[in-house]
Amino acid sequence: NSIQELRELDKKHFIHPTSPVKQQQEQGPAFIFTEGKGVYLQDATGKKVIDGMSSLWNVNVGHGRVELGKTAMEQMSKLGFSSCFATYSNEPAIRLAAKLAQIAPGDLSATFFTSGGSEANDTAYKLARHYWILKGQPGRKKIISRTKSYHGVSMGATSATGLKAFRDFTNSLAPDFLYADNFSSQSLRELIAAEGPETIAAFIAEPVQGAGGIHVAPENYFKEVREICDEYGVLFITDEVITGFGRTGTYFGMDHYGVAPDMMCFAKGVTSGYAQLGGVMISEKIHQELTELSTGTLLHGYTYSGHPMACAVALKNLEIIEQEHLIENAEAMGQELLNGLYRIKQERKIVGKVKGLGLMAGIEIVKDLNTKERFAAPMSPAIVLEAAKQGLICRSVVLDDQDIVVFAPPLTINKDEIKKMIEILNHSISVIEADLAS
Ligand code: PLP
Repeated sequence: NSIQELRELDKKHFIHPTSPVKQQQEQGPAFIFTEGKGVYLQDATGKKVIDGMSSLWNVNVGHGRVELGKTAMEQMSKLGFSSCFATYSNEPAIRLAAKLAQIAPGDLSATFFTSGGSEANDTAYKLARHYWILKGQPGRKKIISRTKSYHGVSMGATSATGLKAFRDFTNSLAPDFLYADNFSSQSLRELIAAEGPETIAAFIAEPVQGAGGIHVAPENYFKEVREICDEYGVLFITDEVITGFGRTGTYFGMDHYGVAPDMMCFAKGVTSGYAQLGGVMISEKIHQELTELSTGTLLHGYTYSGHPMACAVALKNLEIIEQEHLIENAEAMGQELLNGLYRIKQERKIVGKVKGLGLMAGIEIVKDLNTKERFAAPMSPAIVLEAAKQGLICRSVVLDDQDIVVFAPPLTINKDEIKKMIEILNHSISVIEADLAS
């Protein structure tokens, strides 16, 4: 039948991103999704699952939004593409840049558009370095990130990614990337001092780490980071690729900490995944300096920087987020989700720490609740597999010696759907516990 045919074609011809190569080859795709509505996805066999990860932390307004399809169609029919290089422009890109300036933290006021988060990260590193060249300090080229960070897979973003497994995937990286201890502002200070502040261009951090396993920063961490960056003249870049556009219960993750960065990377939730878009915002001050000091051409630009359809979809997506009060809902449902996870922790034997902010949450899987000892082989993959069978998509994080199940459902989720997620998860963990006991 056609599903079997698709599975065989997939195995033979489709190299999946971030995938278990052998398993993919042997078993083929676990789901071939055909449609989605709200928090649900449906596959080619008709099986319905709750998308507890908003797919890749990005489908913030949920699946099946006909109005986004209509916006894309209208824009593509009117103007499918035109260049934004040099002095050419288009209305959706202009209006989106202006809208982002209204909602972004601090005085972030100008946007360079990309097609995704990795490109946004590479752009931020290059713009930061270019800024220091213009400022007459070309020695400032090192970029500091953190040990459990994830910033993407382009060469710069891979090099900035603290999670070692991603860097070990390749055998040569971009130079001048350094890693501070994950949540120690003191470690950042020591690293800058040891390297010499005159060699450091920027420090980059995710407000809440996603791929690294849902690590929420201690309360004063970002205030201290901002002070250290100011003291040493280092640019502070936030990577809001996951945390932007309501995910954590505020418009941007950094809004929780009352700290404004000099630059901000975004992607994912800006279009809820309905179109490929990312970007870097820079502060008014840096924008002015870059403009005043510039002697020639900004020699950095992607063909799709400022893509009219992607920008039109982003504008409509932001309208939905605001009109449906999805940021407030993320805060309320985030609490509901955490409460549910705490209830699971009380009932189950292998659930350690519960953590999260807004609709980004995770549970640590431990062998021993008292000593917090981990299982020799991580158990979160088996839990995630069982949950998928039972109708819930969540994700396991095993990198860097971790064993965590993470969740990031669409911001549209309601109490009943959270309840269903929790029921499925609780049952799935009980199945794994029973396996362990037998
Ligand atoms: N930065 C963060 C914090 C991310 O989570 C991701 C992707 O998951 C990226 C950057 C890379 O974005 P993209 O996959 O769109 O290139």
